[in-house]
Amino acid sequence: MQDFQLYWNIVRDEAEEILYKHCKNCGKTVVFKDTLIRRHNANGKNIYRYAIYKCEKDHTWNQKLSVYKTYTDHVKVYDTKEEKDLPKIEEMNLEWNKLMDKGICTISITIQNIIGNKHRIDKTLAERIPDLSRSQIVQRIRDHSILVNRETCKPSQTLMKDDIITIKLK
Ligand SMILES: [Zn+2]
Repeated sequence: MQDFQLYWNIVRDEAEEILYKHCKNCGKTVVFKDTLIRRHNANGKNIYRYAIYKCEKDHTWNQKLSVYKTYTDHVKVYDTKEEKDLPKIEEMNLEWNKLMDKGICTISITIQNIIGNKHRIDKTLAERIPDLSRSQIVQRIRDHSILVNRETCKPSQTLMKDDIITIKLK
């Protein structure tokens, strides 16, 4: 029995990728696109996390995503550090057939970070497991060979931070 551990950061949310907003520099309402770059700004007691959006003319706008409290001793304080080191989806694809060949029996995926609350399990897995179609994934969810937090789930279940997806390979 061999297990395979993965940690995913789901930072892409189709519904939040584009938004219409007034651009100060363009002087009108334009389309802003999420660059998927996240930035932390430390300001005294708080750490602010921003998503960086750009309009067509490359003007930036930072959307505040969350605020963390800082604890002087044991928390890393980010100083406008760009989080470019978050892996992209392409780099985190799960190679089902390769893992089967290696004799892996169970894959467990921890959702470390997630932005948005609209990430369905079936769609997320289909995006990241190119070897399996969405209907094959739905079938496995119904077979109970895909579990969330050790419990059965529905294909429409939305993923949350700290969820653990367990996939049994057959
Ligand atoms: Zn602009």
